[in-house]
Amino acid sequence: MSTSTSSSAAPAAVAYPARSYAFAEAGQALNWIGGKLVPSASRELLDVTNPRFGKVMGQVALSDSRDVQAAVLAAKAALPGWRNTPMKERAQVLFRLKALLERDMDELCWLLSAENGKTYAEAKGDIEKGIECIEFAISLPNLAAGGQIDVSRGVNCEVTYEPLGIVGGIVPFNFPLMVPLWMIPNALVAGNCFVLKPSEVVPYGAVRLGQYLKLAGLPDGVFQTINGQQPAVEALVDHPDIQAIGFVGSTRVAKLLYGRGSVLGKRMLCLGGAKNHVLVVPDADLDLTASNVVASSFGCAGQRCMASSLMVAVGPTQRIIDAMVANASKIVLGQDMGAVISAAAKERIERYIAQAEAGGAKVLIDGRNATVAGCGGGYWVGPTILDNVAADMPAACDEIFGPVLTIVRARSLDEAIAVENGSQYGNGAAIFTTSGAVARYAVERLEAGMVGVNIGVPVPREPFAFGGFHDSKFGHGDLTGWDGFRFWSRPKKVTTKWALQPDQNWMN
Ligand code: NAD
Repeated sequence: MSTSTSSSAAPAAVAYPARSYAFAEAGQALNWIGGKLVPSASRELLDVTNPRFGKVMGQVALSDSRDVQAAVLAAKAALPGWRNTPMKERAQVLFRLKALLERDMDELCWLLSAENGKTYAEAKGDIEKGIECIEFAISLPNLAAGGQIDVSRGVNCEVTYEPLGIVGGIVPFNFPLMVPLWMIPNALVAGNCFVLKPSEVVPYGAVRLGQYLKLAGLPDGVFQTINGQQPAVEALVDHPDIQAIGFVGSTRVAKLLYGRGSVLGKRMLCLGGAKNHVLVVPDADLDLTASNVVASSFGCAGQRCMASSLMVAVGPTQRIIDAMVANASKIVLGQDMGAVISAAAKERIERYIAQAEAGGAKVLIDGRNATVAGCGGGYWVGPTILDNVAADMPAACDEIFGPVLTIVRARSLDEAIAVENGSQYGNGAAIFTTSGAVARYAVERLEAGMVGVNIGVPVPREPFAFGGFHDSKFGHGDLTGWDGFRFWSRPKKVTTKWALQPDQNWMN
């Protein structure tokens, strides 16, 4: 990617022109501050590439501490008004945001598909899951009433939830709208002002959020978008007026930022990478297991933090592996499965495959050297299944973040659980079995924050919250659902005693 400097503040495209996978340009993704699109202070731009074609589709603004300062100043001005707006009224803005996203769903799907490389159907899933998070936030006025009780005669205790103030969110490339919407609706309905730092690789959907929120009636300054890379992120985390940061991305950056913000006394919740284990035992249902594991491993080209990337096959499970290979072989690249995000990602994924093969793994399906007609230059890797991988090989331990399913063989369920428990990560895990007792035994022992039984992508739907264990999450609590609301608010406990004074009792 190359950088350049813009001489004028060309506005981002209002509507994305393509209604198909055909290549189209998308203009400049600028910052959104005080209800307006503005260039970054440096005017520096970075190319944004459509992974399907490996071709530049536009540019994104590169921001630094000056832009973060401008965003925070706008938020400061807006905060008193927004904080004092009743929660029920704040929620109405989110109702209207949902309607706008639904209105423009088709266009947004093509935009997200173009910037990220995912298929139209996957882009739709991205937005629909984001809308589910909006719906949860809309319900908050009914859930966040707090509680009160007389704790002794004449003494009452109640809890109310206050906003934190100005908060920030930093998000990854793989779900351009869903992950921002894990945070923004809850934080806004809670009464905060929000500064978003989208992934610089997929900025277009996120930039549209500011425009939609304004259309939905959000006062200027309550929500801002600062585009860019490390300098923008660090300025956001370091800014003294930012009270809390939600981060979603790789473990390396999650850990770094968790430490950086925590020493400044900030509330930090940083979700990191994953290596999700799926345990398949001999009594597993053939069709359900084969189709679910394949969909989980290769959906979104494996670029999902909940993708099943490592299967532990317990005992005689060859018939299931054969069915998975047959299912995966039917996936049409470019139609059922999209491109990976970048040339560097393609190179990394193919390196892991080659390394595993050289280490003795059997390549059951090989996604290297994949091409898609009319998409030369695109970053294509086909579905890949590696069998007989040793549990300590890099392909079995590292997050490859691509369409690669690694199979480790185990002789017993306990051995399979031990493989899962040995992972540094703990985002998701699943067991495929027709036995309730086996499922229960595994669920109790798997070291993951989100566990599935006969489900390949066990993402907790609202109101349940999203978050893993170990190196998949740094911080306390989870990021969505009720936990999300609690993360973006602070409980205030009020204890009240109204004693009538005998000598000044004007009520008599
Ligand atoms: P990334 O960590 O490279 O980037 C995430 C964000 O951090 C981006 O906005 C980026 O600009 C910023 N960033 C990158 N390097 C930085 C640095 N050195 N200092 C400060 N900021 C920096 O992640 P990605 O490649 O965009 O996304 C893929 C990763 O995200 C995978 O590891 C995936 O598992 C993870 N992910 C996790 C979850 C979850 O819920 N646990 C969800 C989605 C994605």
